Parts: sequence; C-alpha cells; structure tokens
Amino acid sequence: MKIGFIGTGTMGLPMVANLVAKGFAVTAYDVVPPALDAAVARGAARAGSPTEAAAAGELIITMLPSSANVEAVYLSAGGIIEAAAAGRLCVDMSTIDPGTSQRVAAKLKERGIRFLDAPVSGGVGGAVAGTLAIMVGGADHDLEEARPALAAMGTNIIHVGSVGAGEVAKLCNNLISGAALVAVAEAFRIGESFGVDPQILTNVIAKSSGATWVMEHMHPVPGIVDSAASSRQYAPGFMTDLMAKDLGLAVSAAREKRVPVVVAPAAQQLYRMASSHGLGREDFSAVYKFLKPSSDDAPV
Ligand code: NAD
Repeated sequence: MKIGFIGTGTMGLPMVANLVAKGFAVTAYDVVPPALDAAVARGAARAGSPTEAAAAGELIITMLPSSANVEAVYLSAGGIIEAAAAGRLCVDMSTIDPGTSQRVAAKLKERGIRFLDAPVSGGVGGAVAGTLAIMVGGADHDLEEARPALAAMGTNIIHVGSVGAGEVAKLCNNLISGAALVAVAEAFRIGESFGVDPQILTNVIAKSSGATWVMEHMHPVPGIVDSAASSRQYAPGFMTDLMAKDLGLAVSAAREKRVPVVVAPAAQQLYRMASSHGLGREDFSAVYKFLKPSSDDAPV
C-alpha cells in the first residue's frame, strides 16, 4: 500500500521508518527540510509539498504538532482537501482538539474524502519500537482499511468511537500523566529537602499506593531510571510545550462540556511557566527543575 505521510518530526520519523521496514511505500513531506531529509534517509520518497505527498498516497497519514497545523495542512489552499482523490482515507495521528478533528472530517466528507483521528501514546520509545497505543475515532470499515498501516506503528489499536473520540481518550490520558508527573516532581522535591535518598523513596513508592507509570518510566530525577529523559539532560521525549498544549486541550474540552476541573489547569500553568523559563523544548519531566526549593532564609 502507498502512503503519503506529512509531519516527520520526533514521532513521525520513527513511524515512517517502521512503515518502510514493514514494506509500505511511503512518500513523505515536512515543512522543515532536515526533518524531511531524515525521512528520506530512512527510505521514504521525497515530496515537495503536502499536495504531492497526499496525491501519492492511497492512505494519507499526518503527524503534526497542533490543531492549527492540522487545519492548515488539510483545509488550506494546496492542502490535502485539494490533493486527495474522492474516496481516499486520511488518518490524523496528531494530538489535537476533538472539535478540530470533527470539523476537518466534515469538510473532507463534502469532497467524499474519509477521515480517522488516531492519536497515539507511548512516546518516542513506542514510536521507535512500533509499539504505540493508537486510539481511533471514526467508522469501523475505515479503521479496518487503515489497520495494516496502524499495526506497523503500534500494537494496541483501540476503536474508541466516532470521529473525535480518539482525541478525547488521548486528552483524558494526558491529563492524568501530566498531572501525575507534577505530583511526582513535587513529592521528590519534598523528599530530597528532608534528606531522603531519591532512590530509596522511589523503591518505597513503587511498592505503595503512589506508584505510577510516569514514575516508573519517566522519573523526573536524573539517574534513577536509565531510559528516562531526565537521565539524558531532559532531551525529549515529550516536550514541555506539547504537554502544556495537551493539558490546555483537556481544559478546553472540560469547559465546553461544563465539567469542573481543578488539577488540570494548575498543572497546565506550571508547564507554561516552565516553558516561559526556557524549558519548553525540554522533556516535560524537566518541570522538576522548575520546582526547586527557595533559599533557606525565605519566609515560610
Ligand atoms: P514535532 O514538532 O517533533 O514534529 C512535528 C513535525 O510536523 C515537525 O517536523 C514539523 O516541521 C512538522 N510540521 C509542522 N507544520 C507542518 C506543515 N504545515 N506541513 C508539514 N509539516 C509540518 O512533534 P512530535 O513530538 O512529533 O509530535 C507530533 C504530535 O504527536 C503532536 O500533536 C504531539 O502532541 C503528539 N505526540 C507526541 C509524543 C511525543 O512523545 N513526542 C507522544 C504522543 C503524541
């Protein structure tokens, strides 16, 4: 099957590599030339524009940063809506606002183009290993058509509901992981301030009710988990700016449905502050660096 793939960044690049490795003919496009060069080096054909990538694919996949990027790549002049033949299937794997997915799907439908939202979880490690969790919104038969390509990138493919539902599941998940990481970072700052060894504290929490996936895999204290971003100078991984974006999407979704939320907006503001202090492009676990205690003589 021929695939047009747009957005070959941190996640898109290893996803393209897996598609190529599993025998798919991928034509890729990215607006940043070095990102596109990297995809070509992994075996993709080079497209000179989104139009060219979309026209080359029997299946079109996008992996872009934000709702605005997705809207532009699909709906603007020269976008996928103008390039894809009627009947084509598009799969957007970016994490974006569910309302944008639904709006894009509705516009594409007017031209007979089909759409699935299929955001992912599992981070760069999961993208490289081809073990992403993929949460899909859209029609059953469209998912079945896309399944072989999705299975080249992920191992857990879950049909959540109609278009937009995949994004809702993703926002719910990231609300939990983003807030949990802040809680872990706060707890370890308190522990350290009392002189408790962070390795021993980790051993205790891992066997107690505070155990959480983010501590096990994304521990914010350097040197505790070798594969965690904190042990690699907080190189992403999953950038602080992307986590702030995802929590913002969760807060907006809550607002739209009038659900009261307290923890998500607080965590979002913390990531935003970390970003404004220069940590935006570091892994989101770098929020731990931002939570340094103030000096001993500060009033309490
Ligand atoms: P990224 O910024 O590294 O990659 C996105 C790529 O899209 C970039 O190379 C960028 O140049 C390209 N792009 C932007 N606008 C474009 C346009 N108009 N045309 C063509 N290319 C364009 O981001 P990422 O980390 O790969 O994340 C992509 C999406 O996946 C985001 O929505 C993110 O929230 C989600 N996600 C990321 C992770 C992670 O661990 N990084 C995990 C799960 C989900």
